[in-house]
Amino acid sequence: MPAPASRWKSLSASERRVALEVLVRGPLARTELAQRLGLSTPSLSRLTKPLLDLGVLHEVDDAEPVARGGGRPPQPLDVNPRLEHFVGIKLTGTRAYAALTDLRAGIIRAADARVDDHDPQAVVEVLAGLVHDLNGDTAATVLAIGVGLGGMVVEDVRVGRAPFLGWRDVDLGPQLTARTGLPVVLANDLDALMEAEHWFGAGRDVTNFAALTIGAGVGCGLVVHDRLVHGRDSGLGLLGHFPLDPLGPACPDGHRGCANALLSMDAIQTQASLATGRALEYDEVLDLAQAGDPITDQIVGNAARAFGVLVADVANIAQPERVVLTGEGIRLAEVGWERLVSSIREHRNAEAAELDLLLVKDDPTLWARGAAAVAIQRTVLDTLP
Ligand SMILES: [Zn+2]
Repeated sequence: MPAPASRWKSLSASERRVALEVLVRGPLARTELAQRLGLSTPSLSRLTKPLLDLGVLHEVDDAEPVARGGGRPPQPLDVNPRLEHFVGIKLTGTRAYAALTDLRAGIIRAADARVDDHDPQAVVEVLAGLVHDLNGDTAATVLAIGVGLGGMVVEDVRVGRAPFLGWRDVDLGPQLTARTGLPVVLANDLDALMEAEHWFGAGRDVTNFAALTIGAGVGCGLVVHDRLVHGRDSGLGLLGHFPLDPLGPACPDGHRGCANALLSMDAIQTQASLATGRALEYDEVLDLAQAGDPITDQIVGNAARAFGVLVADVANIAQPERVVLTGEGIRLAEVGWERLVSSIREHRNAEAAELDLLLVKDDPTLWARGAAAVAIQRTVLDTLP
């Protein structure tokens, strides 16, 4: 039996197109698949035959009862996601979160470990240990590893800049490959999250969507015309410096009232601690606001309204059909929901379409899954580093 990796490696461009459509949209009836790809039925049959022989696709057995009058109707086509496995890892300055997934980025199990030492060799050991723990005692066949981190990635294998690790120009990909024997692809963590939502999650059924995140900073990811917007400055967190209030506090870069200065977890925590005269944790600020404490409620309300301006501006510029709100500090949107929504409305044209807002509770595994999705994409597109 051929190694699972060869299933995707040997495909022609047309066969790959069929397989990808089924991977992302399947299961699909043959007629619908042909229609989606603009193929005639005979062409589709010609392309699906080798895919069925290779085991990339299979017929779904029990979708339809047997048609009246005997003959078995053609069955819908699908991939078998459990045949191939991937590991995604979200690397932070203090912990690494890993997930073993199937071919559709479905999480099979998760594990995490402390990152105490930022020496690249020590980090590689932690990551390799996680891969081993997730894969070790089972028959799971891991085809590739994806690593997502906050920062800039160069040529999919080098960390150009990762401030929280104090790294510049570290060849993490080749080092982890040498240690595990597996292909490794690196990605900015928000880009990775976007790719997972684009192919397998909240963005699967739309061609334009945005995600805004609140955490140590404010982040934004965009998919436009079914493609992730990515450029040479991706990973710098540029939207975090979007001006929201000319009279607001300044961020460390000196921008008065930019998104980071108003909305980062640190910024909110600092404002609330100064206003109440108590050293408060981020969640304590939100707990107090939720319980009706007027001082923290005002801070949270102002931040929610400012976040609404940012969401509205992103929507006005990029015209997404859906906006996903997530990140470690996204509870701000939950606690300030009414004020967030009314601020978005105020800053949009009255005739603009209602935004489909989706609040996704933060979970490190979600980000690990994002990194796995990048490994999946690169495997099925046969573009692994
Ligand atoms: Zn700034």
